[in-house]
Amino acid sequence: MNRNENLINASKKHIWYPFTQMQEFLSEQPIIIEKGEGNYLIDIDGNRYLDGVSSIWTNVHGHNKKELNDAIIEQTKKISHSTLLGLSNVAAIECAEALAKITPKGLNRVFFSDSGSTSMEIALKIAYQYFQQNGQSRKKKFIGLKNAYHGDTIGSVSVGGIDLFHEIYHPLLFDTLQAESPFCYRCPFQKEKNNCQRECEQALEKLLRENHEEVVAIIIEPLVQGAGGIIVQPDGFLNKIRTLCDKYGVLMIADEVAVGFGKTGKMFACENEAVIPDIMAVAKGISGGYLPLAATVVKDEIFNGFLGNHDEYKTFFHGHTFTGNPLACAVSIANMKLFETEKTIEKLQPIITQLANRLQELTNHPHVGDIRRYGIMTGIELVKDKATKEPYAINQRIGKKVIEWAREKGVIIRPLGDVIVLMPPLSITAEEIDFLCDTTFQAIDIITKDA
Ligand SMILES: *Cc1c(COP(=O)(O)O)cnc(C)c1O
Repeated sequence: MNRNENLINASKKHIWYPFTQMQEFLSEQPIIIEKGEGNYLIDIDGNRYLDGVSSIWTNVHGHNKKELNDAIIEQTKKISHSTLLGLSNVAAIECAEALAKITPKGLNRVFFSDSGSTSMEIALKIAYQYFQQNGQSRKKKFIGLKNAYHGDTIGSVSVGGIDLFHEIYHPLLFDTLQAESPFCYRCPFQKEKNNCQRECEQALEKLLRENHEEVVAIIIEPLVQGAGGIIVQPDGFLNKIRTLCDKYGVLMIADEVAVGFGKTGKMFACENEAVIPDIMAVAKGISGGYLPLAATVVKDEIFNGFLGNHDEYKTFFHGHTFTGNPLACAVSIANMKLFETEKTIEKLQPIITQLANRLQELTNHPHVGDIRRYGIMTGIELVKDKATKEPYAINQRIGKKVIEWAREKGVIIRPLGDVIVLMPPLSITAEEIDFLCDTTFQAIDIITKDA
């Protein structure tokens, strides 16, 4: 057997893949990636694929980027890991300082971890403990949104709202108040644009009015609910959340794990509505998509609520073995530097415009129900019947078929059900946007024609 056959066999024998029905996966030919180059992935046979979802929403400046590679290599020559328990390290300090500088004003204190899920667990625990030890111990509940995704650990699942992923674990979860999602295409209040009175905001306010004395925080993915189907919130919704949090004395936790680091066209999604959350979680793009790193950034006021004498037990008893890992922090610093030196956000603006223009080609497509986009984050919802918004039957696997067709043509994208997601690295070029759109649109055409 040659090397590639060995790899395929070993892959089928030993890896349990995430979010994957393994019975189906084992019967298929996996694509095994060996290299990356710019915005392309290269498999073990040398085939090249445009990375249309930035390796699950993480990659920022492209793969195999010299400045990022060098940062890691240089750091390995110094030290690859040392703990933040009772010690500090240079890379972690510089990374925290750089983060505090780019995050919204007042968010200055950084707690490091290693995934989006952990950064959200930390946000939840900090918010809860803050009130427990500062005279508001009745506050024990969180408000999350329907269709929300905050990670796969039990705490982050507790505040999530995607039944398909979360329902089975229900008996294991803590009790959370759930508000409706501001999902305009499938409005939970059966409203249309012409008769919408912001019922979602009113319902949220009612929930707060009735429960605020027990509520710790509202948790939100600012502007776009990612894994829920790239659900773009109506203008002003985020700002309304901030207003309501202030009015009712609850904290605002912004999960910027997906939307952070440029995906919405600004460094952080909250900036688009000039909102400053009390706690912000970042991961995915924080390391340029290179290494597992995450951070929970909090306002000074919250941090100060944890200060006290040893015997007051106000310590935040939480930490991960690799908290503040120097390699991950070093590449994160280099990532943030590239945003400056390469003017990443500025250069992204015409790309976003081009993407928006190209997407208009799908407006009248008989099986494109909704096109949702903010910045470079795009979701194309395919439906069986455009007039009634009737979805395809689950066994038709329309989303899966579309992305498989695109793969054959050299584009890697991923569906969320029948929502086709496009979220390329910020470094994508104008030509590559055209290739991504041409291929995706063709795939949608061909697959829906036969369905
Ligand atoms: C991906 C994601 C998470 C979870 O991050 P992991 O690194 O996979 O644990 C949390 N919140 C949002 C909004 C995400 O998109």
